[in-house]
Amino acid sequence: MNIYEYQAKKIFKNYGINVLDGYLIEKIEDLEAAFPKIKTRLGVLKAQVHAGGRGKAGGVKIVKNLEEAKKVFNELYYKKLISKQTGEDGELVKSLYLEEACEIDKEFYLSFILNRKKALISIIISKKGGVDIEKLAVEEADKIKTIDIDPLLGISSYISREIAFFLGFKDKEKLKEFDIFINKLYKIYLEKDATMIEINPLVLSKDEKLICLDAKMSFDDNALFRQKEILAMKDDSKRIKAEIDAEKDSLSYVSLSGNIGCLVNGAGLAMATMDSIKFSGGSPANFLDIGGSASTEIIAKALGMIFDDENVRGVFVNVFGGINHCDTIANAVVMAMEKLDEKLPIVVRLQGTNYEIGKKIIEDSNFPIYLTDSMDEGSKKIVSLTSI
Ligand code: GDP
Ligand code: MN
Repeated sequence: MNIYEYQAKKIFKNYGINVLDGYLIEKIEDLEAAFPKIKTRLGVLKAQVHAGGRGKAGGVKIVKNLEEAKKVFNELYYKKLISKQTGEDGELVKSLYLEEACEIDKEFYLSFILNRKKALISIIISKKGGVDIEKLAVEEADKIKTIDIDPLLGISSYISREIAFFLGFKDKEKLKEFDIFINKLYKIYLEKDATMIEINPLVLSKDEKLICLDAKMSFDDNALFRQKEILAMKDDSKRIKAEIDAEKDSLSYVSLSGNIGCLVNGAGLAMATMDSIKFSGGSPANFLDIGGSASTEIIAKALGMIFDDENVRGVFVNVFGGINHCDTIANAVVMAMEKLDEKLPIVVRLQGTNYEIGKKIIEDSNFPIYLTDSMDEGSKKIVSLTSI
């Protein structure tokens, strides 16, 4: 999960890390109210999107007065910003961040990343900041340094000194400042279950202050259950409603472009089901993974969600009853069918625990459900039923 710059800066601020004062702008009135609070001669307006490269794309503008700020606001607000990182569709700017400006002396790059290869956290630093780091890594590799953090030792003072030296700082006070700064970032990284913290640029201002001018953070989705504060920062507006609804019931729903709805258990079986449908000449509209422990009611609700998708012409339920028993699945299918006005073709393939009971429940329901115990046969059947 990603958050916006202003949200990351709020976290930084809470940990006592140096960021400039700023205000979230969600409508023109916010700008009118916030601008007079800017204590510096200039202000900076920054489009809030989950992507970098805004500076070059015109999403970061220095403004002299409220009038100029309003003009920039109107140019960016609810427009699509297309930067190198947004893809060609761009990202809608729904809010801006008004910040005090600073006079930059030097710009650096600093990030904490999850180094999956080495199974530890690495710090990447660069003498050149505010630039495309991937490009720099290729063209001027000597300007970049990667430092691995031993998970048992954490940030020893020699690590923060190594960083400070590499970036060209020597005096005692700055070394101390770096030590505190790096330790705070590491603390945030661990406490918030982050997977990435990127500060590009980290600057030394003309009055010799170390300031995080930009802030980007990503988090481990699997840790969000214990990160309520982070979860509350989630912007779901870009996601498909069904995917969000499914997540609330601990189901995973992935929307696809075809017309056969799939209800399966387990990601492996989901992949196999999609392959099987493709081999039979069809195309899946989604896959919905009910996982291992969903109740009859939840599974019936999940089926309802698939039926609700207007692209769906038929449904293939392909479940291997392990932790989920076949009778639970069968009951859910019947429950969902009872609620359905228009009866779409449905093929059910069941195998595993309580298979016989499940089969009987489906047969006794008298709904036109095609029952099979072969995945291949099931795929062929649903493809033929939906291509009429
Ligand atoms: P990004 O392009 O999406 O990474 O956005 P940034 O937040 O990094 O801003 C882009 C660039 O704008 C930075 O690299 C800075 O050079 C510049 N910038 C941002 N804030 C200020 C400021 O207060 N003063 C000055 N002089 N430049 C700024
Ligand atoms: Mn940046």
